[in-house]
Amino acid sequence: CGIVGFIGGQDAKEILLKGLEKLEYRGYDSAGIAVQSNSGVVVSKEKGRIAQLREIVDTSIEASIGIGHTRWATHGVPSKVNAHPHQSTSQRFTLVHNGVIENYELLKREYLQDVTFVSETDTEVIVHLLEKHVQEGAHVEEAFRQTLKLLHGSYALAMLDNENPGVIYVAKNKSPLLVGVGDNFNVVASDAMAMLQVTNQFIELMDKEMVLVTENSITIKNLAGSIVERAPFTAELDA
Ligand code: GLU
Repeated sequence: CGIVGFIGGQDAKEILLKGLEKLEYRGYDSAGIAVQSNSGVVVSKEKGRIAQLREIVDTSIEASIGIGHTRWATHGVPSKVNAHPHQSTSQRFTLVHNGVIENYELLKREYLQDVTFVSETDTEVIVHLLEKHVQEGAHVEEAFRQTLKLLHGSYALAMLDNENPGVIYVAKNKSPLLVGVGDNFNVVASDAMAMLQVTNQFIELMDKEMVLVTENSITIKNLAGSIVERAPFTAELDA
């Protein structure tokens, strides 16, 4: 399983699909991407191989921002509905997740009684919690932080907010995730291998850090909201 993200001036969907192909060796049962076009976020997902996902991705969509996922099902059968990305009810938030949210049943009972879930995944609680927090008045970054504080378990996350197009929201705990640095673009990947096609400069993330990634900036924060500075390293691998 794995995660990719791209934000910059190029055709995001091709870079995401190539990145997912590089992660195929990790094993998966379904895959999906979401790209942010001028008319909003477009999700394409499918059970099976990346080649099958490629067939359903609308090649006419122009987008320079997106996230992608290969799934190794832990909660809910491998299926199109359970494949990531997942969206909140208003479709404002779109999310990919690797890992396991151990307290998802408790979070559902405690905070999300009135929400209709469309998948059987543990992951879906995360997008609904985000939406709940913004409905209660939080700014997206605050909603992201509040949501992360509620999660127990492992996660590598990448999230798009329809109301803040230009940003990929990223977080990690006990699942691998790197941010890659480019010239007028930046990337996200579970494994440097996925993004060597565009950069070999990566920044390591620590558990319980969140990152705001834009075309020209990478801002790492801890859950207390303080900025963390960390220099990139060069990945010495062959693409
Ligand atoms: N637990 C999530 C699911 O079953 C994510 C699995 C993964 O890491 O791919 O959908």
